[in-house]
Amino acid sequence: MTDPESLAERVRDGELRLHELEEHADHETAAAARRRLVERETGADLETIGDFAFAAEETEPNIENLIGGAQLPMGVAGPVPVDGGAADGEHYLPLATTEGALVASVNRGLSVIREAGGAAARVTKNGMTRAPVFRVSGVVDAAETVEWVGANEDRLREAAESTTSHGELLGIEPYVVGDSVYLRFAYDTKDAMGMNMATIATGEACKIVEAETPAELVALSGNLCSDKKPAAINAIDGRGRSVTAEVVIPGEVVEARLKTTAAGIVEANTRKNLVGSAKAGSLGFNAHAANVVAAAFLATGQDEAHVVEGANAITTMDTRETDEDGSADLYASVSLASLQVGTVGGGTRLPTQAEALDVIGVRGGGDPPGENAAALAEVIAVGALAGELSLLAALSSRHLASAHEELGR
Ligand code: NAP
Repeated sequence: MTDPESLAERVRDGELRLHELEEHADHETAAAARRRLVERETGADLETIGDFAFAAEETEPNIENLIGGAQLPMGVAGPVPVDGGAADGEHYLPLATTEGALVASVNRGLSVIREAGGAAARVTKNGMTRAPVFRVSGVVDAAETVEWVGANEDRLREAAESTTSHGELLGIEPYVVGDSVYLRFAYDTKDAMGMNMATIATGEACKIVEAETPAELVALSGNLCSDKKPAAINAIDGRGRSVTAEVVIPGEVVEARLKTTAAGIVEANTRKNLVGSAKAGSLGFNAHAANVVAAAFLATGQDEAHVVEGANAITTMDTRETDEDGSADLYASVSLASLQVGTVGGGTRLPTQAEALDVIGVRGGGDPPGENAAALAEVIAVGALAGELSLLAALSSRHLASAHEELGR
């Protein structure tokens, strides 16, 4: 019997395992059977979780033990003109969040940026990294390994690139700690976020390192990559795309729209984002870049755990020349050191996420490859800039608590 109830019973009786249901029924039925089982065992009602809009079989590479969908509200902010290296023209930014006031705050920031003529944005560095760790007998073998890798990068490139038609090995940075050797491989993964691509390619290169040097592979990831952990190496050297967005806002617009002055925002940024973050030993010197990164990641199918790296952002604010009326203009920038985004692969292929990428105009592979992911990085950076401007203005004009009271609770 392959109806949900019978399947759930067979799992309960130990005849089938939870992850084997798709071998005995279609994906929808397997998910329904799991819901039955979980409902019985926990007393929870999974009616809403079971009411999802995508085809269950389409989720196959993205999830195991499917029971349904986790639905989040999605809002939109913008449009905003972006003068990017890859992004061009007006863009809306879809944001999925449960934090009241976030979309309103980003929308306010984007509308001020629009009034100022738009933001400029550029990706200044690009490289997805994977750093395997090798065991050697000691420093002599470590030095021999590092020397061999330096002299044979072309051979390793050929092996790595044999596994992908898009990925390109950019370089290998070696690190030695006692009898451990770490090789930090960096790739241009084009429109893919690239973590699978980089891992598979690095695995192929490691076979040659093991065959030609005294080094023995211990783990394909040695944490110097560094994936999904707060790490200074990503904040300094970058991982994925390093992207900066900036805007100059006329003084009268700061006063009319943000209800403060350029000097007031600059002081809030210096004392909070720079001095306060330094005192806290923070990796991110910003107000809430993670808010925009997380909401944009959830909307567009990015790997949400990469918000850890996405929060490595520095916000700068400065006054620019004084207007005739005496009010200084405001220069504002946000630089995200390690924004890991893709427009192909991973969760980007799921229906709501793909539609959200369509809203930004970056679904699928770019022309040339890499342009869509770069444009996505630039638009998210402009969104983060808007969030920084809006929050700092609210702090500077002391409107933060009342805005949250009105919108968030
Ligand atoms: P993927 O879905 O594994 O692969 C995407 C594939 O799309 C590429 O390998 C590439 O094929 C193909 N492709 C087609 N057009 C492309 C274009 N224009 N630019 C680039 N590639 C194009 O995605 P991924 O980005 O490598 O990995 C993302 C997934 O990795 C996410 O689901 C994430 O959660 C997961 N992840 C994995 C690890 C890990 O250690 N393995 C760690 C963190 C996250 P070719 O390679 O043949 O060119």
